[in-house]
Amino acid sequence: MEFAAFADRAAEMEAEPADLETVTLVAELFAETGDELDTVARFVQGRVFPAHDGTKLDIGPSLCYAALAKAAGTNVSVADIEDRLAEVGEIGAVAETLDLGGQQGLSAFGAGGGDTLIVSEVDDQLRSLAAAEGSGSTDTKLDTLFGLFNRADDLEARFLARLVLGEMRIGVGEGTVRDAIADGFEVPVEAVARAIQVSNDCGLVAETAREDGKAGLEDVHLQVGRPVKAMLAQAGTAVDALDEWERAAVETKFDGARVQVHHDGETTRLFSRNLEDVTDSLPEVVESVDQQLDVPAILDGEVVAVDEAGEPLPFQEVLRRFRRKHDVAATRESVAVELHAFDCLHANGDDLLDTSLVERHDRLCGLLSTGVSELVLTDDADAIAEFEAEALDDGHEGIMLKNPDSSYTPGNRGKNWLKRKPDVETLDLVVTGAEWGEGRRANLLGTFLLSARTPDGYETLGKVATGITDEELAALHDRLEPYVRSESGTEVDIEPAVVFEVGYEEIQHSPTYSSGYALRFPRFVGVREDKSPDDADSLERVERLANA
Ligand code: AMP
Repeated sequence: MEFAAFADRAAEMEAEPADLETVTLVAELFAETGDELDTVARFVQGRVFPAHDGTKLDIGPSLCYAALAKAAGTNVSVADIEDRLAEVGEIGAVAETLDLGGQQGLSAFGAGGGDTLIVSEVDDQLRSLAAAEGSGSTDTKLDTLFGLFNRADDLEARFLARLVLGEMRIGVGEGTVRDAIADGFEVPVEAVARAIQVSNDCGLVAETAREDGKAGLEDVHLQVGRPVKAMLAQAGTAVDALDEWERAAVETKFDGARVQVHHDGETTRLFSRNLEDVTDSLPEVVESVDQQLDVPAILDGEVVAVDEAGEPLPFQEVLRRFRRKHDVAATRESVAVELHAFDCLHANGDDLLDTSLVERHDRLCGLLSTGVSELVLTDDADAIAEFEAEALDDGHEGIMLKNPDSSYTPGNRGKNWLKRKPDVETLDLVVTGAEWGEGRRANLLGTFLLSARTPDGYETLGKVATGITDEELAALHDRLEPYVRSESGTEVDIEPAVVFEVGYEEIQHSPTYSSGYALRFPRFVGVREDKSPDDADSLERVERLANA
């Protein structure tokens, strides 16, 4: 399929406000697509890699703008692009007005191929770009991107720029793709939803639905090495739990980072909640699992940092280990981590998503002799309170209350898992802006604008500058700088990418911020490296906390 044909369809979707009509447009696009269905099903969602693949394109706005400027010719600078962006607010709309392709003499440089951009070729090039590493990789990426933009017409440029930055803005998410697969290939939507949950790969599911229909979808199974989304929890209390269920399964809520353990019978791989492969940063977890497991299994659990006496350390400590690529051995000396496995999705050939929590926990106990979290079944609120007091006493974060009869629903934040934390809850908010510091902090970003997630984007609710040490500030500056979209005076607009955990004294109604709420005395607690903006707290939760 020509990328231009894809871009035409994407423009139609963007212009279509009604969800149902958008589903029809996506279904039509799928029907027109041949071999590239897999790629097209990802591209419409602004994805180059399937959801289970944690690989990131790792192209920040500045690299994208540089490539656009280069393709736009000598009269257009990166600063011009940033100025236009500040006016129109969105890179696709800027890219399409740039009259790219003026650099014909240079078109052999970077992209190669004929003049017409083909979907599969765009996919291949973006993937090669994600794989570029080491010295010179930034130049390689710039050349590749330039090569693509240089061959793009206006509409192609709009969607290529958005694809590169991972935001298509055409109102197509996983739900739309699910419905379009069901409509377009005449298969039950439940079968499609199920196959997406199990495979975490819309492209694969689209192809399976087209080639093998409902039977094919039912034959999609969990696969060791292909992580699924983590099941999530809502806030709740013992009373909520015992009102809903006859008895509750009570567990410690460990203050660490989520991991999904994939063991193929010989080797182990570990995935973060964002489905990034974090195997190499946690060797002692791998060793422990390798020693204990000799059959294929997929487990869910929490990795916690512990001190020399084995007591749990605060969550921030585990992050020092979690995504570390260098000095793993040295950091391992200073911060030890251990796994608390609490669920089992697959054991020795059996997919267990549909079996009950109690049965899955039994299978887990049969697989691991150490590192399994204790699960207590009770219908007694006092027993739950006692369990909670002990968990807090032992330095844990709180407790989890789970429905003993519930299945495992990947990606779902349902009522079957309740989390109970006693403290005033912190919020996990997305950084969407910043201000330059003052005095000795003048060359660093200093005050950070925080936003909560809404179904349509982000709404601001406060700025945080306290609770940050000089050392942390320098690290935050480096972490956020690649996401700077534009600057005006001392204020900086930042692409949503980084999630801060923040404490506060109160949430007030206030006209100061776009959400209609403001945090009183916000204080920085840490960066939630394990969360993406999609996992940040919603405005709905902020409203609930404000009204509580
Ligand atoms: P939160 O991050 O505050 O939304 O709390 C939910 C998280 O608690 C999960 O995503 C897990 O990472 C973590 N967690 C800790 N202990 C457990 C447990 N026993 N069962 C499930 N999740 C747990």
